[in-house]
Amino acid sequence: MKSAIYPGSFDPVTLGHVDIIKRSAGLTDKLIVGVLNNSTKTPLFSVEERVNMLKNVTRKIPNVEVVSFTGLLVDFAKEKDCHVIIRGLRAVTDFEYELAMAQTNRVANPDVDTIFLTTSLKYAYLSSSIVKEMAQYNGDISKFVPEEVIEQIYSKYGR
Ligand code: ADP
Repeated sequence: MKSAIYPGSFDPVTLGHVDIIKRSAGLTDKLIVGVLNNSTKTPLFSVEERVNMLKNVTRKIPNVEVVSFTGLLVDFAKEKDCHVIIRGLRAVTDFEYELAMAQTNRVANPDVDTIFLTTSLKYAYLSSSIVKEMAQYNGDISKFVPEEVIEQIYSKYGR
C-alpha cells in the first residue's frame, strides 16, 4: 500500500495503539496517524499534547507521520490522497460501532476502504479510558503505556 491513515483520539496513546501503529507501518509505505480534534468530546489531553506524545513514541519508525485533523475522516483522507483507513478491533464490543463507521465512510467516499487489524492478545483489554482510571487513583500504568509518556499522564492528575 502507498499510504494509510490510522485515526483515533489517542487520549492518551496506549501500548495497544503502538502495537497497531508498528504493524500497520510494516504494511504500507507511509502511515499517517490522524489525531482527531473533535469539539464534541472533551479530551484529557489537548490535541497538541496528543500529537506530541505520538510523535515522541513513534520517532524511531521512519515511515510514520503524526498529524491532527478536524471534521470528517473521509475528507481528511481525500486531502491526504489516501484510500485506506486502518482501525484496531479488540473485541466483539468494538465491532458494531466500527462496522457502522466503516460502512458510513464507504457511502461518503467509495474510494476509501477500512482495514481492521485484530489486537494482539496481550493488549485486548486495554483502552485509553482504563489508563486514565488507573492513573487517577495512582495505579501502576507502566504495563499499559509507552515509558516516554508515563510522567506526562500522572502529571495531569497532579502526581
Ligand atoms: P476512538 O478512535 O474510538 O476515539 P481510540 O483513540 O481509543 O478510539 O483508538 C483508536 C483506534 O485504535 C481504534 O481503531 C481502536 O479500536 C484501536 N485501539 C484502541 N485500543 C486498542 C488496543 N488495545 N489494541 C488494538 N487496537 C486498539
